[in-house]
Amino acid sequence: MGNIPTPLRDAAGRIDLRSLDRAGLRGLVAGILPELEPTKIEAVALRIYKEVWQHGIVEIEQMETVRRALRERLAQRAYVATLSELRRIDSVDGAQKFLWRLHDGAVVESVLIPDGDRVTLCMSSQVGCAMGCTFCLTGDLGLIRHLHPGEIASQPLQVQASLPAGVRITNLVLMGMGEPVHNLGNLITALRVCLDDHALNYSHRRITVSTVGLVPQLGALAAALPVNLAVSLNATTEAQRARIMPITKRYSMSELLEACRCVPLPPGKRITFEYVMFEGFNDTLDDAERLRLLLREIPTKINLIPYNENPDRPRLRRPSAEVVKAFQHHLVSRGVSCSIRTTRGIDISAACGQLGKGALEAGGGAAGS
Ligand code: SAH
Ligand code: SF4
Repeated sequence: MGNIPTPLRDAAGRIDLRSLDRAGLRGLVAGILPELEPTKIEAVALRIYKEVWQHGIVEIEQMETVRRALRERLAQRAYVATLSELRRIDSVDGAQKFLWRLHDGAVVESVLIPDGDRVTLCMSSQVGCAMGCTFCLTGDLGLIRHLHPGEIASQPLQVQASLPAGVRITNLVLMGMGEPVHNLGNLITALRVCLDDHALNYSHRRITVSTVGLVPQLGALAAALPVNLAVSLNATTEAQRARIMPITKRYSMSELLEACRCVPLPPGKRITFEYVMFEGFNDTLDDAERLRLLLREIPTKINLIPYNENPDRPRLRRPSAEVVKAFQHHLVSRGVSCSIRTTRGIDISAACGQLGKGALEAGGGAAGS
């Protein structure tokens, strides 16, 4: 499910150029100009690709590097879909949330997190999410729909275009709304655009995909692209994980960790394991020790995420800073790399697990196709 890319099309059936990677664009150009030889097709496709991703052109007739006759033929078959910015909300801590309205009225969010030289964009991959993790507000929406490739890759393009000169997004993380690998085909097309030096030109070292671990899709992503993987583990026993993450009933934690052991990692690359900490649920030193043992054979970085509380989940609480520190100390003192994620954007509902609130308030939760 979700493994085949589905480009966005308009009511007239024209294809969205932002939904195509370079190979897709080559195919489109070959269909429009079948008489051209392959090297010419490649050259024309590359010019269009750069117009879209490097010059940010949204009207085909303004593509100056493309011959007028071709522009006319292209415009009959294609167009450029854009995200419309519904609202931008600033956090007191410098984070910024962008609410985007999509062509069908659905709303998704991206969060910009500046941190010194590092400027991270947290991107969405779906409207809502099907995974139903009990602690996550995006999960409450259910899956409304997958994002098309262009709707994913437009987030860094359009946020970057809105930033002051000299400020550059340095890192992309797929940690916003949705389960990215559940939308694998569209995700891969979008990531190719993010990685391509003729398009958005991000290094694979600076792109991270976070997943609950749909096992086959995780393997397929790792085989297709060299991006960083972050796996949301959040528990140390099967029963504990199943209580908060229903996906555990489909793919057990042991299957997931076995898949992680088999991921071909280049030297020096490690898998990040995210561990949301809940008071009295998974925050003891016994949990820390079990976590260490579970991950022993995998090149690992652990990222502890103190739970961001939500009024809708009064029973779920964030542990004290001391408890989180003691958990980290247990791991670090035994040679495990382990950091604590600082919460950003909590006042604007932009922190982990809070995305979707804004979309619901903006009326986007009910939209979809
Ligand atoms: N669907 C993907 C990516 C989006 S969620 C995934 O689950 O990995 C990004 C991260 O936020 C995940 O690690 C998730 O466990 C965490 N998260 C969700 N709700 C949270 C909350 N309320 N507080 C802290 N982290 C949360
Ligand atoms: Fe979906 Fe991730 Fe939220 Fe789980 S934590 S419901 S997978 S967005």
